[in-house]
Amino acid sequence: MDFQLNDEQLQLKKSVREFAEREIAPHVMKWDEEGDFPLAVIKELGKLGLLGVIFPAEYGGAGMGYVEYVTAIEELSRVDGSVGIIVAAHTSLCSNHIFVAGNEEQKRKYVPKLASGEFIGAWGLTEPGSGSDAGGARCTAVRKGDNWIINGTKTFCTNGHYADVVVVVAVTDKAAHTHGLSAFVVEKGTKGFRPGKKENKLGLRASDTAELIFEDCVVPANHLLGKEGDGFIDAMRILDGGRISIAALSLGIAQGAFDAALKYSKQRKQFGKAISEFQAIQWKLADMATEIDAARLLTMRAASMKDAGEKTTMESSMAKLFASETAVKCANEGVQIHGGYGFIKDYPAEKFYRDVKLCTIGEGTSEIQRMVIARQLLKS
Ligand SMILES: Cc1cc2nc3c(=O)[nH]c(=O)nc-3n(C[C@H](O)[C@H](O)[C@H](O)COP(=O)(O)OP(=O)(O)OC[C@H]3O[C@@H](n4cnc5c(N)ncnc54)[C@H](O)[C@@H]3O)c2cc1C
Repeated sequence: MDFQLNDEQLQLKKSVREFAEREIAPHVMKWDEEGDFPLAVIKELGKLGLLGVIFPAEYGGAGMGYVEYVTAIEELSRVDGSVGIIVAAHTSLCSNHIFVAGNEEQKRKYVPKLASGEFIGAWGLTEPGSGSDAGGARCTAVRKGDNWIINGTKTFCTNGHYADVVVVVAVTDKAAHTHGLSAFVVEKGTKGFRPGKKENKLGLRASDTAELIFEDCVVPANHLLGKEGDGFIDAMRILDGGRISIAALSLGIAQGAFDAALKYSKQRKQFGKAISEFQAIQWKLADMATEIDAARLLTMRAASMKDAGEKTTMESSMAKLFASETAVKCANEGVQIHGGYGFIKDYPAEKFYRDVKLCTIGEGTSEIQRMVIARQLLKS
């Protein structure tokens, strides 16, 4: 069993960290306060190959795997969770759904453009009335001759306003329940499709979270992604990978909160000594570091299994559940270690505290992860 990244992976980690420190760190608070989507940085990540880490070179990807992918997401999120979630939704939800379920023509048409950053991707599963119960979707797609007519609204879609291409899951056979959902690729500018309300959020404010509205939206029959009726099953497969990326997003935020708290604890003096000399603070730091390490091991295990082609439903959920709950604790302790300055926007602790909460919610809440894990346990 190998617990270390190899030299190439360490080099990738170093170069993403340097990029994040140089190109992202100086702007995070401005982007956060103004709700600015960092499009130029995302395009730059595309040029560096970081929007297609998990795809083979023949589809314009970097030809690496999930271990490298989560390494990159962690390093980006350590500096800005918004960039982390933008890349995660683009890569492991939208692009990967096309890569996994698409036919050769669809893969060749979209994946290289998504991997290079020429196209930004979004993924629409959640609806106003169906989140955890994604199978209860109401958005419909009806076949009419050579087209599908899509009607309905998707909500909370990351990258919604910036997406050149979206994957949307809609009901094609109501009676078949979860076997009656199908996925479609819809391009920006398609008549009847538009992004709607931009959400005003607690955290991850530089990421875009939007409605996707379909009103008699006509898409050609060849935009069906995967088999008719397989949309829900494929979406669950996509989430097996996506949840590893949310574990990595969590890890990055936790590590960022820890690094800031460690640094501050050595600088801040009270009662004539650095607060890092107080056992109460040391124990917080020790617990944070230990739990972050454990979260990273679970995340890397899931990523390695994925790279080995194994089914990771339970391991992805375990990694996502543990890493996200750990990250919430670490961000909370990070604020506590900063005292009053943790509440002030001059220090990074408060932003980690706001950003991190999404991790226990997006791509399935902690409650849903426990359900998935328990289901897998009871199956065996
Ligand atoms: C910033 C952000 C970005 C997002 N990005 C995307 C995206 O790109 N694409 C996309 O499709 N979606 C996206 N989502 C949606 C996200 O995946 C959902 O919000 C999430 O799955 C929860 O669904 P919900 O909000 O409807 O909550 P609900 O399902 O209404 O849950 C409310 C509460 O009830 C609990 N609950 C529900 N069912 C059960 C149960 N059976 N047992 C126990 N407890 C239960 C939940 O755990 C939660 O605590 C995003 C959300 C946010 C906030």
